[in-house]
Amino acid sequence: MNAPRNPRTFHVKSFGCQMNVYDGERMAELMAAQGLTATADADAADLVVLNTCHIREKATEKVYSDIGRIRKQARETRGGEPMIAIAGCVAQAEGEEIVKRARVDVVVGPQAYHNLPELVGRAARGEAALDTDMPAASKFGALPSRRKVGPSAFLTVQEGCDKFCTYCVVPYTRGAEVSRPWQAIIDEAKALVDAGAREITLLGQNVNAWDDDGRGLHDLIAALDRIEGLARIRYTTSHPNDMREGLIRAHAEVEKLMPFLHLPVQSGSGRILKAMNRSHSRDSYLRLLDRVRAARPDIALSGDFIVGFPGETEAEFAETLSLVDQVGYAQAFSFKYSPRPGTPAAAMDGFVPAEAMDDRLQRLQAALNRDQAAFNAATVGRTCELLLERPGKLPGQLIGKSPWLQSVHLVSEARIGDLIEVEIVEAGPNSLAGEVLRRAAA
Ligand code: SAM
Ligand code: SF4
Repeated sequence: MNAPRNPRTFHVKSFGCQMNVYDGERMAELMAAQGLTATADADAADLVVLNTCHIREKATEKVYSDIGRIRKQARETRGGEPMIAIAGCVAQAEGEEIVKRARVDVVVGPQAYHNLPELVGRAARGEAALDTDMPAASKFGALPSRRKVGPSAFLTVQEGCDKFCTYCVVPYTRGAEVSRPWQAIIDEAKALVDAGAREITLLGQNVNAWDDDGRGLHDLIAALDRIEGLARIRYTTSHPNDMREGLIRAHAEVEKLMPFLHLPVQSGSGRILKAMNRSHSRDSYLRLLDRVRAARPDIALSGDFIVGFPGETEAEFAETLSLVDQVGYAQAFSFKYSPRPGTPAAAMDGFVPAEAMDDRLQRLQAALNRDQAAFNAATVGRTCELLLERPGKLPGQLIGKSPWLQSVHLVSEARIGDLIEVEIVEAGPNSLAGEVLRRAAA
């Protein structure tokens, strides 16, 4: 059976980074504004939007297997297939190819998703519906305003990337670095607070490169600090080269700015960093962290790592391990290098065999897990504020985030969205337990 004409229900599934989560929320708001009803069950939806990630080959292949699975499930449970829209970076990178390979109804890139309702309308009439343009005018002005969000909300302030790390597809799929204007961000932040947010995480591929006519991210953070009802500010992901003095100082001066910094390094080897075109060295990265720690001694540090970049030797990998030992990350993400078509690294010699790649990832993750467990253990006995975000699995249990972005569970009669003061009483590798001391002032 063909896709339903004029879908009435929809489901958006986002893969990959937090910016995709944000885009997924905005697409859902767009479709709801058209009168469609959101459904939590992809198998029951007339329209399924897969908001995809292209960063590694595995993420891309998952999209194709998901399309097949969704269709099969829908045929079995309701005797027909939903309309399928592919959004996100796979849509941008594969374009027409994805229509040929998977017969999807709609393809829309990350800079064109404000056109999703129109594209769905076209597909419903049986017309071609593909839009991977990167228009000069921003999509943001064409999106409906924020209405209902949870206690912790994302706000994209910067998109795209001009850094061209040799392994990365982002500059090709998300386009050049663009900052959203100051006032649009302030307005959206206020709307998010009015809609229920107590915490806002500013998002960007290189969020600390945000700029509006000489004003930098720290100026924006200072302005958000003055929004009544907003209790916490975070930002991610930062690039070491865009970490300016004002932003470092903000960590010392702005109380609402949480003590957490995600600052990917990728490798501890100077030679590999050069081959990656990272434009920071091992030493400049470490010196930067010293300055950040001097400004905010309790800051929790996080990073991204790639193992098995072309030509990486065992000794160069050992330099990554020694950097990890030196920094002591509170948490981190680590990946096996994945060659991406069209990137310079994909054409480099020195392919690292799969077994060596697996072995390095395992050793790196063991070191990162050890440090995460140590960071968590060191918070036991500390008092801190939690923002309660969702119910836990057990009756009466709630889960909140500490200032250092740790998940903490506790039993409390407080409500989701409350800020409460707790003592951390127990720590595991991935989550902590807390006991309520008192409700913090709203
Ligand atoms: N702009 C951010 C930065 O440079 O730190 C990160 C953006 S990227 C979406 C997230 C992470 O994916 C990168 O930090 C990197 O560790 C990883 N990544 C990117 N391309 C990759 C590749 N080809 N293979 C493996 N990991 C990759
Ligand atoms: Fe990709 Fe590098 Fe840009 Fe990050 S800075 S998005 S890793 S090209």
